[in-house]
Amino acid sequence: MRSIAKERTYFSSSLRCGICHSNISSTSHIFQSKILHIPVCTRCRHHFPEEDIELMLNMFIAYGGYYGKLSCQDFSLAQIFKSEEFPNETVNQPQQVNIKLLHSALLHGISPRELILQLEEFILD
Ligand SMILES: [Zn+2]
Repeated sequence: MRSIAKERTYFSSSLRCGICHSNISSTSHIFQSKILHIPVCTRCRHHFPEEDIELMLNMFIAYGGYYGKLSCQDFSLAQIFKSEEFPNETVNQPQQVNIKLLHSALLHGISPRELILQLEEFILD
């Protein structure tokens, strides 16, 4: 399997983390997805479980962006559910809602586990 981590010139002269987009200066301790040829920095590697890393890489490939691109203070479940992006027809398709919600949370620097906690609190309120 070809590793981008070892071939720094494959896409550009500097590597960027597939999760947080920070520059990766040392390739000795980075995470390399078993499925995707995308490196993940040491900080993200230690912060997230491997299953979340694979999930986040897939989300950013499919829908763009990166973890923490937007301020976490701008993330509000109440506002999301009231917004035009979540019309009734979308609410009737729970998988679409889950994907959009997770992608939005990731863009705001909220991990999948933190999102679940926020959803639990939102439902109980
Ligand atoms: Zn990172």
